[in-house]
Amino acid sequence: MLVVGNWKMNTSHAEAIALAADVVRETEGIAGKAGVGVCPPFVWLDAVAERVRGTQVALGAQNVAAEASGAFTGETSAPMLSDLGCTYAIVGHSERRALFGETDADVAARARGAMAHGLVPIVCVGETLEERKSGDAEAVVRRQLEGSLDGLDVASDDALVIAYEPVWAIGTGETASPEQAQDMHATIRAALRQRLGDLASGVQILYGGSVKPGNAATLFAQEDVDGGLVGGASLDAAGFAAIVRAA
Ligand code: PEP
Repeated sequence: MLVVGNWKMNTSHAEAIALAADVVRETEGIAGKAGVGVCPPFVWLDAVAERVRGTQVALGAQNVAAEASGAFTGETSAPMLSDLGCTYAIVGHSERRALFGETDADVAARARGAMAHGLVPIVCVGETLEERKSGDAEAVVRRQLEGSLDGLDVASDDALVIAYEPVWAIGTGETASPEQAQDMHATIRAALRQRLGDLASGVQILYGGSVKPGNAATLFAQEDVDGGLVGGASLDAAGFAAIVRAA
C-alpha cells in the first residue's frame, strides 16, 4: 500500500516546512506497513527534503520534464528532482491535462524522462463525468493508459505507479464508490497485465478523488486498490495520517 499527498499549489514556505514536519511525526510508526509520500510545490521541495530525509516519508514532485536538461524554460528535470532526493513524480494529473493541455504523448514522454533517471512516475488517468455518463469510462481510461505508458520500459513492479483519478471526484467532495473504484482498478490491472505480464500484479494502483479519513478504509479494502493519491485532505497532517493508517 502507498499513500501520496499532492499539495498542489498550496502552502507558504513556512507552512510547507511545518506540514512536512507534522506528516513525519503523525505517520511515524504507521508507515512501514504502508508507504507514505508527499508532493509539495516545486519551490518548497528543497526545504521539505530537509525535513523528510532519513524518515519514513518519501518525497515526490507534482510533474517532471521529459528532457534531462536544456532550453525548456519553466520545466524541472528528473536529474534535478533526483538530486533533491525525490522518489516519485506525478505525471498526467487531470489538472495538467485539462488546464495545461498535456496529452497522453506528453505524459508518456514525461514518464520516460522520470524513469530514465530513477524516479518512479505516478501516472494519472481518469474519465470525466460526461465520459462516465455515456458509458465510455473504461474505454477512455484504457486509451489514456496505453498512450501514457507508450515507450515506457518497465523493468520492475516498483518502477511504476498508476493513479486512477476520476475527474468528477477530484476536489469535488464526490468519491467513486468502492465498487466503481474496484471495477476500474481491475480494468487497469488487466490492461497492465497485457503490457507487462506478471509484473502487473505488483504495480501499485492508487485511487484518487476526494479521499478522506472517513472513506479511505472502504476504498483501500478493495482488492485492486493499493492506496491513494490524496489532494485536499493531505494538507492536514492528522487527517492525512488517518488515511495512511487506513492503508
Ligand atoms: C488530486 O488532486 O490528486 C486529488 C485526488 O485531489 P482531492 O483529493 O482533493 O480530490
